[in-house]
Amino acid sequence: MAKPKITLLPDIYFENVPKTLNMNIRSELYSTNEFTFAVAVILSAQATDKKVNEVTPELFRVAPTPDKMLELGIDKLKEHIRVISFFNNKATSIMKLATQLHGENSDDINYHFPQKYHNRNELMKLGGIGQKTANVVMNVLWNAPNIGVDTHVFRNAHRYGWVGESENTPEKVEEKLLKIIPQKYHAIVNHVMVLHGRYTCKALRPDCANCPVNKWCNAADKRI
Ligand code: SF4
Repeated sequence: MAKPKITLLPDIYFENVPKTLNMNIRSELYSTNEFTFAVAVILSAQATDKKVNEVTPELFRVAPTPDKMLELGIDKLKEHIRVISFFNNKATSIMKLATQLHGENSDDINYHFPQKYHNRNELMKLGGIGQKTANVVMNVLWNAPNIGVDTHVFRNAHRYGWVGESENTPEKVEEKLLKIIPQKYHAIVNHVMVLHGRYTCKALRPDCANCPVNKWCNAADKRI
């Protein structure tokens, strides 16, 4: 199979795009501690951050810790999140997560995951935390060099020729990106590609006129 043609070099991309973003904002999801951040990421699957942020301030006011979430109970949790897609399944996952985290410091308003969960395999044993969610949690909370592959990362990695047709799952895209993107950038890949993909290098109408890497980019669907 022919190798994909790289139309924008990773070095140039990660050197220039972050300069135009507010890198202090590690995620646009509202959260109050590590537990609520994980809950917000679970809620954001196939839903926009904006929609999630509409319901989470009130939810996290009443249920900011695993223990408080258990006290709230699944029926009330569903009432809080019913405007979000797949809220039934997500409520089940969140209650499972709260049950598993119940125990040490689980009523602490500044909840931190116990150290043993700072490991992708352990984290993925928790309710609602698949590979993508684990990557985002580890990346945002602990600056881990995993690459969470969401819709923006997946689309634009293909658009720039960093991955090819055979990289057709998030797992395969992550594996390839870890090889072709210099290691010093791994901790910021998801964050930078999500923000750039959401606001500038968008799916249908990339805003190339306002893109910081316009002069180096030869993507096939570039607009200028
Ligand atoms: S917005 Fe346009 S110029 Fe910028 S990376 Fe995307 S396709 Fe290339």
